[in-house]
Amino acid sequence: MAETIFDKIINKEIPADIVYEDDMALAFKDINPQAPTHLLIIPKTQIATINDVSTDNAHLVGHLYVVAAKIAKEQGFADDGYRVVMNCNEHGGQTVYHIHLHLLAGKPLGWPPYTETLKV
Ligand code: 5GP
Repeated sequence: MAETIFDKIINKEIPADIVYEDDMALAFKDINPQAPTHLLIIPKTQIATINDVSTDNAHLVGHLYVVAAKIAKEQGFADDGYRVVMNCNEHGGQTVYHIHLHLLAGKPLGWPPYTETLKV
């Protein structure tokens, strides 16, 4: 599987503002934040897209949510609320092919998360 920029962050080959790390996951600040708090939570094992999630690696994906809830409580925005998003492939807006939860917080977040008018 092709290495991504996130492998370099996991291996500490390039810097990132890391806020949480354990054996399975890493969380760091997004370089281009879309909310007052915008973190990326990634598994240390590469899974390219949601389409590659299976019963074999589902525990890693579940763990990303455990980390999200832990950070939300520690950083004090659990009760106000927040959003976690995982994009998949081109239409989903995925640009880095190593799955990651976006954790967005710090203000009321608009919904739906896109601006075009839906034409049906
Ligand atoms: P995606 O578009 O794949 O859902 O999200 C990729 C995210 O990674 C984007 O929000 C982008 O700003 C972030 N990103 C890309 N390269 C880097 C980097 O080198 N460092 C950090 N901290 N974030 C990055």
